[in-house]
Amino acid sequence: MHRVKVPALARVMPLDPQESQHLRVLRLRVGAQVQVFDGEGGEARATVIRLDEGGAMLELGERVENDRETPQPVTLAVALLKGDKLSDVVRAATELGVARVQLLQTRYADVPEIGDAKLVRLRRVAAEASKQSRRAVTPDVLAPIPVSKLVLDGQGFLAHPGSAARVTDSLDWSAPVTFVSGPEGGFSDAEVAALTASGFVSVTLGPRILRAETAPLALLGAVAATGV
Ligand code: SAM
Repeated sequence: MHRVKVPALARVMPLDPQESQHLRVLRLRVGAQVQVFDGEGGEARATVIRLDEGGAMLELGERVENDRETPQPVTLAVALLKGDKLSDVVRAATELGVARVQLLQTRYADVPEIGDAKLVRLRRVAAEASKQSRRAVTPDVLAPIPVSKLVLDGQGFLAHPGSAARVTDSLDWSAPVTFVSGPEGGFSDAEVAALTASGFVSVTLGPRILRAETAPLALLGAVAATGV
């Protein structure tokens, strides 16, 4: 069944021009059934009650259980990357179940900052990926902060080449989890020291050096491997 992202579940839900156009392209008719989700965990069936040049409107049906979220929220903290690499990371991280993506400014970053337009684009990528992966939750993509401002809540793992520990040695689902992944130039010694001092465990992703856009997915692959 086609899934539609709505701002909130309500008795009657007008759709934005993009979603309305999408329903027209799919050649849906008044009376068609769709599934709606609000990005905050709410999901329900809905009926198309209007679909014309002026837009589309849905009527709320029964609520649907969506149990596709991890047992504890997962945060991916990832360094700013060049070009469109962050879009690929956000898309895949959403498919792999993250609750939020925290962008990081790092000493050896490929790019020092990103503009508002790019942040909006990344949030749109997360919304599209949550729709496609049948999640009811759309991850937040949070504006960049320096590594020193990253606060640990629960368990934290920092991907750093040459580390002895592995994520699978100690990952458990009794607390929220944060994964940290660096830029193409790697983390500075001071950044690694600051993160480990605040409780992040430095972990290996194997003997090969992964690209900065591959490492976050290898970290999150450990989540997928636990089957949650
Ligand atoms: N010369 C850099 C260094 O030694 O840190 C390589 C950086 S790597 C291209 C980019 C990021 O991916 C790293 O900062 C780290 O977070 C992660 N990474 C890549 N390969 C890794 C590995 N084998 N083990 C742990 N982390 C890795």
